[in-house]
Amino acid sequence: MIHSFLETPVEYLKGVGPARADLLKKELKIFTFGELLSYFPFRYVDRSKIYKITDIHDDTPYIQIMGTIGRITTAGSQRSKRLIATISDGTGEVDLVWFQGIKWVIDLLIPGKTFIVFGKPSWFNGRLNIAHPELETPPEHTSTLKINLMPFYNSTEKLKSKGLDSKGVSKLIKTLLISEKFYISENLPDEITGDLKLIARETAFINIHFPDNLEILKKAQARLKFEELFFIQLRLLQQKYNRTQKNTGHVFSKVGDNVNNFYHHYLTFELTNAQKRVIREIRQDLRSGKQMNRLLQGDVGSGKTLVALMIMLIALDNGYQACLMAPTEILANQHFQTISRMLSGMGIHISLLTGSTKNLQRKEILQGLFDGTLQILIGTHALIEENVQFRELGVVVIDEQHRFGVAQRAKLWDKNIITPHVLVMTATPIPRTLAMTLYGDLECSVIDEMPPGRKPVITRHVYDSKREEVFGFIKKMIKEGKQVYIVYPLIKESETLDLKNLIEGFEIVREAFPAPGYAISMVHGKMKQPEKDVEMNRFIRKETQIMVATTVIEVGVDIPNASVMVIENAERFGLSQLHQLRGRVGRGADQAYCILMTSFKLTVEAKKRIDTMVSTSDGFIISETDLQLRGPGDLEGTQQSGILNLKIADIVKDEKILKYARNLASDILRDDPSLEKEKNMMLFQHLALMNKYNENWGLIS
Ligand code: ADP
Ligand code: MG
Repeated sequence: MIHSFLETPVEYLKGVGPARADLLKKELKIFTFGELLSYFPFRYVDRSKIYKITDIHDDTPYIQIMGTIGRITTAGSQRSKRLIATISDGTGEVDLVWFQGIKWVIDLLIPGKTFIVFGKPSWFNGRLNIAHPELETPPEHTSTLKINLMPFYNSTEKLKSKGLDSKGVSKLIKTLLISEKFYISENLPDEITGDLKLIARETAFINIHFPDNLEILKKAQARLKFEELFFIQLRLLQQKYNRTQKNTGHVFSKVGDNVNNFYHHYLTFELTNAQKRVIREIRQDLRSGKQMNRLLQGDVGSGKTLVALMIMLIALDNGYQACLMAPTEILANQHFQTISRMLSGMGIHISLLTGSTKNLQRKEILQGLFDGTLQILIGTHALIEENVQFRELGVVVIDEQHRFGVAQRAKLWDKNIITPHVLVMTATPIPRTLAMTLYGDLECSVIDEMPPGRKPVITRHVYDSKREEVFGFIKKMIKEGKQVYIVYPLIKESETLDLKNLIEGFEIVREAFPAPGYAISMVHGKMKQPEKDVEMNRFIRKETQIMVATTVIEVGVDIPNASVMVIENAERFGLSQLHQLRGRVGRGADQAYCILMTSFKLTVEAKKRIDTMVSTSDGFIISETDLQLRGPGDLEGTQQSGILNLKIADIVKDEKILKYARNLASDILRDDPSLEKEKNMMLFQHLALMNKYNENWGLIS
């Protein structure tokens, strides 16, 4: 086996006993030599540079200074006891502080002696100090100067307790690199490394851990980033290729009566250019003879449902059935109402199937599906139950993809021998780079235009101290017949606290808006679904004017009359969440408002989020900003997928590399889809190895 060195279990490494091996596995998911080598430093500190103390400023990271020891004192007693030694280099003075190991350092420190000190400076009571610095005497230092860039590794408390702090990890990796058996085989053919001037894989692995200089470090990073992104793309695109090859799709060759009739006689408005373009893109897929798998992105209210409806009508025109699956009962119900209304009079047979569909009706629906008289079925997860059998399902539309696991998507596809076309709709815009990585196997369409006449939601940032004014505004709006959402944050770690927040908020709201003049609904996560539905429906029927809720407000629920959204503790929400919430209002013709309430204390990031919300309603700008602020790991829908556990590349910073890698992967597969050619041998082998190790991949394929 070519990779036997890298595949060696980590416990075989000198210095890793059973206890450490166990921790490495549990804490860092490091099982093999290869995984240990792929545990890259998160930072390097230049140890060839000696700082002048006057040059140290507020945000100086780890530094080295050289100076002589002055006063040595101890302060505090017992557990707060600490040792303080001053060191000066002629330009300034720094306090070196130890809380532990005092007995040991005190012998080393001799006033007047010169040391090189390494550590992270900070300010305390107006004085610079470095806690627990590393000390070296200058002559010793020259001999270790070879390590100019010192690697820093993330560690955990548990690992540290077994000696595996950054230094300990570094030592293990060094042992591995100098081992006699150390060997890393190349996985990119010369053609690629040559074209891109990438250094060899083995050289890259050595220098990513122990770079001699910045230049070689950069080369090592470039090589490993490219490799990481390239193989992900190669795999995604190959999966996509395999799927389109294997799954012959239904051919929807014609546009017939249903589409024409609807378009000319039932549709009361003109499609936007974006809608037309997207429909064209989809139609091309539907004619191609290959199974369609397309992601349709578009902000809330951009008219995705209408596109879905047109696509379903095309299926009907070609003699097939269609279904639309929504993540909640309320949403499914709403889709059913809207679509039934839009198609009423056309003689199309539509039904709704959810968990609460009564048995008798369910039987009827199942019969209709089976004999083909039922043409469009709208529903929830209930659609994918075993006994739901279509006569000939042509297209599946899935609304709000994030709520469904990919497994469920697959289940739907299994319903027929020939896989139906699948259109996944999402109102959470995904930055392009993320979409490329996360949905690299799907085609992607974007509606980037709002129907005409839509007024952007007016968004304001208001401090808590102005609550009275906000309540006054709400009263004015209610007087005009509008409905209002007041949303409280829900942070999982402290559900009880959140509930307390909500209930307290509810009391405040109830005091400010007393019965009988006002009626208030409340929905929160601790309520059972039927209770929630009751409250939601009261609001939908306008029996209440105010809806106090945690973020459980159903995604996509359409209440055109609700035109004010107040978000409490807005600083505690993520950007995409704020955007989703704001999308709940502004669905009618009236001017809508979103009021973001915060305290005075805002972090820089929170301020940036609020400012972004106030300044734009463009979902793509918002999601890009979100990605930049938080990094991809935190974005909705990415965690469970596991594919974004990138070890070195960053889809924001390395966008160029990502695009290049994707294009190259695509070119290679076009020429050699199964990677059978001699020149692609290494690629084939490396993919096989990845597939062997990465079960996570099953999740998205
Ligand atoms: P989404 O599903 O993307 O949130 P919908 O399809 O529910 O958006 O559309 C939102 C509203 O806009 C609906 O009332 C719909 O009838 C209307 N609408 C959709 N497309 C257009 C259009 N081209 N012109 C005018 N109104 C439209
Ligand atoms: Mg929608």
